[in-house]
Formats: sequence, C-alpha cells, structure tokens
Amino acid sequence: MEIIREIDIEQRSRANDYVHEVYELVKKRNVGEKEFLQAAREIFDSLRPVFLQHPEFMHNGILERITEPDRVITFRVAWEDDTGKVHVNRGYRVQFNNSLGPYKGGIRFHPTVNSSIMKFLAFEQTFKNALTGQPIGAGKGGSDFDPKGKSEREIMRFTQSFITELSKYIGPDIDVPAGDIGVGKREIGYMFGQYNRLNGGYEAGVFTGKDPNHGGSLGRKEATGYGTVYFVDEMLKEKGDSFDGKTVVVSGSGNVATYAIEKAVQLGAKVLACSDSSGYIYDPNGIDVNTVKLLKEFDNKRIQEYTKFHKEAIFYEGCSGIWSVACDIALPCATQNELEETDALMLIKNGVKAVGEGANMPCTEEAILTFQAKGVLFAPAKAANAGGVAVSAMEMSQNSMRLSWTVEEVDEKLKTVMKNIYASCNNAASRFGSPGNLVVGANIAGFLKVADAMVAHGIH
Ligand code: GLU
Repeated sequence: MEIIREIDIEQRSRANDYVHEVYELVKKRNVGEKEFLQAAREIFDSLRPVFLQHPEFMHNGILERITEPDRVITFRVAWEDDTGKVHVNRGYRVQFNNSLGPYKGGIRFHPTVNSSIMKFLAFEQTFKNALTGQPIGAGKGGSDFDPKGKSEREIMRFTQSFITELSKYIGPDIDVPAGDIGVGKREIGYMFGQYNRLNGGYEAGVFTGKDPNHGGSLGRKEATGYGTVYFVDEMLKEKGDSFDGKTVVVSGSGNVATYAIEKAVQLGAKVLACSDSSGYIYDPNGIDVNTVKLLKEFDNKRIQEYTKFHKEAIFYEGCSGIWSVACDIALPCATQNELEETDALMLIKNGVKAVGEGANMPCTEEAILTFQAKGVLFAPAKAANAGGVAVSAMEMSQNSMRLSWTVEEVDEKLKTVMKNIYASCNNAASRFGSPGNLVVGANIAGFLKVADAMVAHGIH
C-alpha cells in the first residue's frame, strides 16, 4: 500500500514537472505573445491528470510538439486604394496541426491581428476541430487590414492580393480556409474566384463559407450561433432546465451573435441586449433579430440605428457595459477577452445562471474561474462554438460528393455534432477527476484525439 502511494506521488510530480517545464519552454519561445500564452496556459492546467494516465505522451514529447505550429507563414499584402495610392498590410496563415485532416480554420481581417492572436486562434482550433469528430486539422489566417470604411472594390483588390500569395500554401487536401471576423461570403467569393483563376480549375473544396448558390453549404451561416445555443441547451438540460422563458444577453451583432439570438428566441428566450464595437442596445421588448440582420448583414450599419426602428430600445455607448444588463444566460459572441473578472462579478450579482462562449476565448481566465467558483454553468468556446467549423467540414464533404444537403439535413447533423461534443466533454471531465468542469473536459477530450493521432503517425 505504502509503495503504491509512493509510486503515485512520484508519477504525479513527474507529470506536474513535465507540464511546468514545457510551459516554461513555450513562454521562452513565444515572448510577449500574451493571447497565445493565455490559451496555452488554460490547456496545460487541464492536462495534468492526462499525463498521469498516459505517460507515453510525455515520452513522445506530445505537449512540446502540440504547442509548436507546423509552420507560420507571413507575407506582404500590397494593394491599391480607389485613389491609386498603394498600401501594405501583413498577411498570416498559421498551419498548426494536420494530424486529423487538412489544416482548417478561418481568415480574420481586423486591425488587431498579429502573430499572437493568429497563433492562439490556430491553437484553439486544434482542439475545437478535434472535438467535432470530423477529419479536419487546424489553422488560422488573416491580416491587420481594416475593412471598416473601405469601398467594395478596395476590399476586392485587397482580398485578391492576399489570396494570390496564400494560394501557394492551400488546397482542398492541404489547407482549407473559411471566414472569421471581417471575412464573410463576399470575401470568400473573391478568394475563391482568384484561387481558381490562378490554378486554372474549379476547386470547390478549397474554401468553406462560400455562398450556398455558388458551392457553399446551406446552414453554414447559421451554424456557429445555432451551435452555441444547442450546446448551452444541452448543458441546461443536464440540470433539468432550458432556454424557455429565460432572459439572455448576447454581445456582438455579427454572424455568430445574430444566429445565437435567432436560435435562443426560437427556443423561447427573450434576448435583451446585443452590441457592436461602438456600444450596446438594450431592448426591453426583446431584440428583433430581423432588424439586426437588416442593419448588419445587408447594410453594414452601426447597431445604434436599431433605435430608429424600435422606439423603446436604448443605445449605450461603450460595448463592455452590456454585462451590466441582468440576465439568466450570457453569450459572449464578439471577440477575445471581452468579458473580464469585473464583468463576471456583475453578471453573478445580477443572477446569471449559465454562460456560453460563442466567440473565441471571449472570457478572461479570471472571469472563467469566477463563474466556476460561484457555480455558474460555463460552456467554453472550443466546444460551444465548434458548430461553425463542423458545418464547414460538412461543406467539404458535399463539395467532394458534388451534391447539396437540405438545410434541415445540415441542421440535424449540426445538432448531433453539438450533442456529441457535449457528451465527450462531460465524460472526459468526469473520467479525469473534474466532474461538471467543461473547460477541463473540452481540453482533455480534444487533446486526447490529437495526441493519439500524433503518437500513431510517428515523430515529426
Ligand atoms: N472562424 C470559425 C472558427 O473560429 C470557422 C472556421 C471554419 O469554418 O473553418 O471556428
């Protein structure tokens, strides 16, 4: 008995030392990359019990390998504005891990894009894509280009220049980009057109998020937002609860937020607020998603204009104030680190019961710990927002088969994927000693899939 305890203590300290040493290495290699280190730290904290049960992962250096991208491509993107002046932006593609399939992940056009943000997103994508259970690896790309205030033609010229360089590194069996912040079906259309022009063919499977009329999948646009709500619904069901009759606050008003609002309302909730980078709207009658779509999807207007159509709605400047709106369920669907500890404390004070991350890493580490300490149900992004990339994988399947599924078929498959992700996160959390902790569950379940494949494929 005594000997077994000693072995146990020794193994525990070996696993802890290993995680600690690799984290120090990652820190040294990625100096100043705060978002990437934040994402890595969260995963590392969850993985300690895994190495106790799987010492072979330590022996195979899986943690060292899984935190180092296969490659990071950076390039110059020169483009001409409407007056003929030349501008230069920086383009990125981080091909993080292809153990489970071709690199897969979105492209983001936003002035905040830098190496740390690209790497954190691609790293998160590694676990998220694994959780979907589909044959997709992980990558992310983008540019510090700001689409705000640019003309349609400027966006086209920038996008064509961006993809002209990136086209050398992608392909349906190599790397399949999609949209993200600042990149929707219009930009994907320009990328797809330019790629085909350069390659002299029609490679439907090289991008996802295409217009359903031109090679895209029905249901892709809705998938991330719907998927987040399906996931949170599973989490509520476990407690005998549901969205019905609940008040909800959704930050953002882009693609993810819009369809999270739509699905939450369909399931009987009242969405009280949504936002954009200038501020938030509070509508005591419940946000009308059709007005949001009209303003944002079709017209590119500020959310403030919502008040023109709904007289009782109020606009407040500054987007972080949205977390002061009392609600049962909070769905941060805007961007990384948008919900901090003080916001979490405010939501808790106002009675929040569940939080689901629709954006990538929208809650800071302190905010997550605060929610968990107070017993708030918490759905982490890499599980809760996996619906978008899951339907992207379905788009790849349809493109390969040269057929289209109906929107009902896609939605049914999406529901099943989200249910399965919930079950595997929940099971992993229990199996590894943290029942109910979906952060730990998602990290472990995603990690195990990738790590197994990496061991099977040999050392590289
Ligand atoms: N950008 C989305 C994400 O963060 C979707 C990626 C994709 O469809 O490839 O997961």
